[in-house]
Amino acid sequence: MHEFTFFKKSIISWFAQNKRDLPWRDTNNAYYIWISEIILQQTRVNQGINYYYRFIDQFPDVVSLANANIDEVMKCWQGLGYYSRARNLHAGAMQIVNNFGGKMPNSYAELIKIKGIGRYTAAAIASIAFAERVPAIDGNVFRVLSRLFADSTCIDDDNGYTHFYKIAQSMMVDCSPSDFNQALMEFGALVCLPRNPDCAGCPIMSVCMAFQTNQMLSFPVKKQKKAPTSRFFNYFIFQYKQSFFLRKRDNEDIWKGLYEFPMSETKELLTVEKKYFEKIINEYVGDIQWNIKKHSDAVKHQLTHRTVVATFYHIELSALPNELSEYICIPKSQFHQYPVPKVIERYMEKEFDFKD
Ligand code: SF4
Repeated sequence: MHEFTFFKKSIISWFAQNKRDLPWRDTNNAYYIWISEIILQQTRVNQGINYYYRFIDQFPDVVSLANANIDEVMKCWQGLGYYSRARNLHAGAMQIVNNFGGKMPNSYAELIKIKGIGRYTAAAIASIAFAERVPAIDGNVFRVLSRLFADSTCIDDDNGYTHFYKIAQSMMVDCSPSDFNQALMEFGALVCLPRNPDCAGCPIMSVCMAFQTNQMLSFPVKKQKKAPTSRFFNYFIFQYKQSFFLRKRDNEDIWKGLYEFPMSETKELLTVEKKYFEKIINEYVGDIQWNIKKHSDAVKHQLTHRTVVATFYHIELSALPNELSEYICIPKSQFHQYPVPKVIERYMEKEFDFKD
């Protein structure tokens, strides 16, 4: 128990002296904390700050987010990745308007019912905005606690979550829940780093079991990860006069809610020499004459568990094909109004001639 107290005091006092000056730290506005926590789930702080400012500027409160068109929300999120976060924020805001009169719920038990708010986010909002005594367990917290006790409980299942949650909860007495949670997270983000922990400057090294036994990098313990697999996306930029075709991805797959060109996914890299290339294009455009203006090299885009290998074919059409009626036909000049995956945005910025 003595070590618990030493750890808690040390870490909270370290936080008071070393915490980064971040915009969502100056507030107990639960909506701002919600937005920042969702942005930071999969995004580095430096990149996330600009998106955070842009998001709360465009959608300053729950009601404005709920009333926004989903395309506006996706456009604001474009480039951040993990787009289900933006869709869920929008759906969550609508739920808060419908069920809570547009006011952020003020307890963990209510917050966890909101779409897209999981255990960690509910605990972060409840503790920071409403001082509820509930531990927020993220990757940083798992790392610090597992090293502190040289605890080899596997962290990526429910058992591991409950185990470390109980440890954190038992420490979280006689202190501010907001400071305790934020101190642990910040300490993991700045000192107890995954590959290069700053043990020499660490205020808790005297009680850290992993340091004492020189096993810092053995913790936390995770299950073996599968190697990422590849998916091959062939994009066809069909151009008729000054327009081309887009559709919204609406199936349960990556990039749901973003727009894309007609696309064919193949098991391997498609080359223009292969016979089925013509077949694929003809399926899209029927009997209409077409001509390949340009085709790109394969562009790799890394996701967490997948590599998307994208190839772009810019194809001119002699007429409007009926087969593309499920796509929207937009003037090239309006392309920038549509939220698209980063791999498409990058290609269009670098390689596509909008004047042509
Ligand atoms: S001594 Fe090293 S491993 Fe232990 S908590 Fe401090 S930084 Fe992390």
